[in-house]
Amino acid sequence: MSRRLNNVYERLLRRFRERPYSSGFLAVCALSGGGVVAYSVATRETYDDVGAPKKKVVVLGTGWAGTSFLRNLKNPSYDVQVISPRNYFAFTPLLPSVTVGTVEARSVVEPIRNIVKKNNVNVNFCEAECYKIDAQNKKVHCRSTKNANEEFIVDYDYLVVAMGARVNTFNTPGVEDHCLYLKEVEDAQKIRRKVIDCFEKASLPNVSDEERRRMLQFVVVGGGPTGVEFAAELHDFVSEDLVKLYPTVKDFVKISLLEATNHILNMFDKRITTFAEEKFHRDGIDLKTGSMVVKVSDKEISTKEIKTGVVSTIPYGMAVWSTGIATRPVVVDFMKEIGQANRRVLATDEWLRVEGTNNIYALGDCATINQRRVMEDISSIFEKADKNRSGTMTIKEFQEVVDDICDRYPQVQLYLKNKNMSSLVDLLKESKGDATKEVNVDEFKSALSQVDSQVKNFPATAQVAAQEGAYLADCFNRMDKCEKRPEGPIRFRESGRHRFRPFRYKHLGQFAPLGGEQTAAQLPGDWVSIGHSSQWLWYSVYASKQVSWRTRSLVVSDWMRCFIFGRDSSQI
Ligand code: FAD
Repeated sequence: MSRRLNNVYERLLRRFRERPYSSGFLAVCALSGGGVVAYSVATRETYDDVGAPKKKVVVLGTGWAGTSFLRNLKNPSYDVQVISPRNYFAFTPLLPSVTVGTVEARSVVEPIRNIVKKNNVNVNFCEAECYKIDAQNKKVHCRSTKNANEEFIVDYDYLVVAMGARVNTFNTPGVEDHCLYLKEVEDAQKIRRKVIDCFEKASLPNVSDEERRRMLQFVVVGGGPTGVEFAAELHDFVSEDLVKLYPTVKDFVKISLLEATNHILNMFDKRITTFAEEKFHRDGIDLKTGSMVVKVSDKEISTKEIKTGVVSTIPYGMAVWSTGIATRPVVVDFMKEIGQANRRVLATDEWLRVEGTNNIYALGDCATINQRRVMEDISSIFEKADKNRSGTMTIKEFQEVVDDICDRYPQVQLYLKNKNMSSLVDLLKESKGDATKEVNVDEFKSALSQVDSQVKNFPATAQVAAQEGAYLADCFNRMDKCEKRPEGPIRFRESGRHRFRPFRYKHLGQFAPLGGEQTAAQLPGDWVSIGHSSQWLWYSVYASKQVSWRTRSLVVSDWMRCFIFGRDSSQI
């Protein structure tokens, strides 16, 4: 009898393992605020070749960081659930081109299902937004983007938070109601329609000149790379295409760029900033630096001169707000839950693991790496190096840990590079003033006292996000191997080694397209190039960085179409 029961149980178990997806959805209906909320708990189980349950990895977001993680994840022993309100990846550096039709919206997006089907990992996608991360119970609460009443919970073994950031309005009154943003593909499409809308309305016969001037006043707020690139694209669109199509109103057009600090493109080399400012003056783009927007109404923008405090107003037809990013509300709530309430941005360690958690990773714009300071660990480093506990460290003892120090604290290498030193031993010798063979803890502290000045936060760019995604996927690919044979630096405050080497960012350079087929490029080693040659470099880099051959060919054909026929000004 018991053997027959066993057989039945085994057959049921086998069938369950063969068809795991059909088993796990428990639908509950709950009444909420008068409406019906469909509430489900997604408990999907899949098994590896030896019958052990696969580790569940939940990825929040399909932007640069999330997509890079998914593209590089090769280890089939994970069961991956992707949750994102958009079912595609968007190539954001080309969004300014989408606003004026140089490139079409569909040319810069790739369905996420297309991207993930290429590797052998089991990936499932849900178009939904996560509204709560429950770190204690290892669950994420999600809501469908198609039906806000449909909510579900997904549990995880590892969570990868790659939700990006939201636009920062600095709580400026009127911005949310009256300004357009340039963050998502939909934003770029809205801007494209609005520009043509302004031209069509201004061309109606009974509009006064004053009203015409207002309608064709385009204001860009924020002199960072996105604001500058958009202003340049808009200028090209107007001067190359629209003036020919709307000759009666062309003299009323004005583009203004407002920037609160004294210069635009502050993160670039001074030569690029100066060139960009001069080019904008030549092009007739009204550049107002030191000018902070304090209020936006439906037809006017109020700005305050930082130096004088004088407030003036600019009537406008379209305003685009591009002043930086802030943390999303769901991430703010999560930070409160894990004891990071006093921080502005979600902090991770150098392995991208969220501080205060074990199995949650955060990458891209939604997080920042909290680089450990050498001076916080200096006594532990000394103790580890001083193997014979003599109270002094010999150069030989020091040399045994020097690679681990450089690996664990990247600021050390930066500091040595800035001081033109080849090794940390030189730093010790310089600090002591002689070629000594031994140092005590105080001498050691004094030698390394300045290295932390080189701790830097990475910029919120696609480059950083993509590299972080690839790094984390590589760690996940080799998790078991590195568990057994750790390859990271020594743990100075504890015993053993870190499993992995910490994340290292490799800066490959940055571009600032300035319109008129001229681009500024700042490449590693502070190599600066401005003009038509960098424009060709920009074309080739951006074509090569596309995630698929489909988008690559679409983008290149859009550039050719635009070159031959100009941009399309239909308002659809
Ligand atoms: P994102 O790419 O923003 O992706 C976030 C993802 O999370 C999205 O899929 C989103 O739908 C999803 N998400 C949002 N909320 C939720 C939620 N509640 N639950 C689940 N998922 C959610 N960088 C460069 O290096 N070079 C450039 O030239 C450049 N140009 C840019 C031009 C523009 C117009 C913009 C807007 C940005 C540009 N950037 C550039 C910056 C770059 O796009 C960002 O740094 C990068 O997108 C960050 O990647 P991410 O994955 O962190 O976030």
